[in-house]
Amino acid sequence: MAVQTRQDLQALPKIDLHRHLEGSVRPATFLEIARTRHIPLPTDDLEGLCRLIQVTDDPPDFLQFLSKFDLFRGFWPDREAIERVAFEAVEDAAQDHVVYLELRYAPVHFARKSCFRAKDVIEWVTAGARCAAAQYGLRVEFIATVARHYPLEVNLPGIEAVLEMGRDRFVGFDVAGDEIHFPLDPFEPYLRRVKEIGLGLTLHAGEAGGAGNVRQAIERFQAERIGHGVHVIQDESTVQLALQRGVTFEMCLTSNLQTATVPSLALHPAKDLLDRGLCITLNTDDPSISRTNLTREWELALSEARFLPSDLLTVSRNAVQAAFLPEREKSKIRQILLRIPNYGQKESGLPGPVS
Ligand SMILES: [Zn+2]
Repeated sequence: MAVQTRQDLQALPKIDLHRHLEGSVRPATFLEIARTRHIPLPTDDLEGLCRLIQVTDDPPDFLQFLSKFDLFRGFWPDREAIERVAFEAVEDAAQDHVVYLELRYAPVHFARKSCFRAKDVIEWVTAGARCAAAQYGLRVEFIATVARHYPLEVNLPGIEAVLEMGRDRFVGFDVAGDEIHFPLDPFEPYLRRVKEIGLGLTLHAGEAGGAGNVRQAIERFQAERIGHGVHVIQDESTVQLALQRGVTFEMCLTSNLQTATVPSLALHPAKDLLDRGLCITLNTDDPSISRTNLTREWELALSEARFLPSDLLTVSRNAVQAAFLPEREKSKIRQILLRIPNYGQKESGLPGPVS
């Protein structure tokens, strides 16, 4: 079997380290929740709603992309809705043959509208996602996200809940959002505490912003992973720093195109950086908003971003290595990958075993 068709790619086991729950909500589910709770939306039509919450014919633009989250922000009405979208996000990943998923979300995103306690939201998301993970036989862990474009006082209830619950509920911590207009400084003391309690740290940087943000994330905040980091290519000394520190880059091709981080996938630097030995991984970011999945991202990597089939093995190996898990747990993930039929048989054009 050579990797030729979407079905071939779909059948391969995958790891997604960078997927936002907020960007994984099925439009039909969103509409149904609104209808059954009598929550008014700007449109009652699924197609019209998709244009508001998904990237359709929008021009590539970072802030336009972020605006796709607007309708979700003041929405979440109850526990059942939150558990449902968490379940479905993992269900969608399972159907895409993701075997290990680090799902990230901001507790306050789901808590704010209805004044839920952040800790309760965390329990509901965990319950919904773990239920799907058990049903479909994949592993899911969680990364807590804060949006840097919201004031610290808005983010604080979520941060405090995460620090209190720590590794019982999360493996990592992330700062996302508008890196052009909002520096990380207000979050610095909390990022230190996150590391003290043993959570992995990944920071969105070098997406809308430049290589300087990637350098800052690595040097000042000691991030082990960078969300996107595409613009690291603009500064050789930062590439060298990332190589020396073994920093992982969570790249997301479709998202990077839609946010105008790159002008085209042919010009995406992921392949060049991979060939230079940087720890590159491929992920989905916001599969529903971007109307993609990891199979589609792999397909685009091969067809447009100059990846070779063997590179899919490398990014999978990198993803296992970079997972926010203890080494013995990573070994289990590798064993899961090896149990999948054909995955261990190295043939021409087909990724071999992840080791
Ligand atoms: Zn992201």
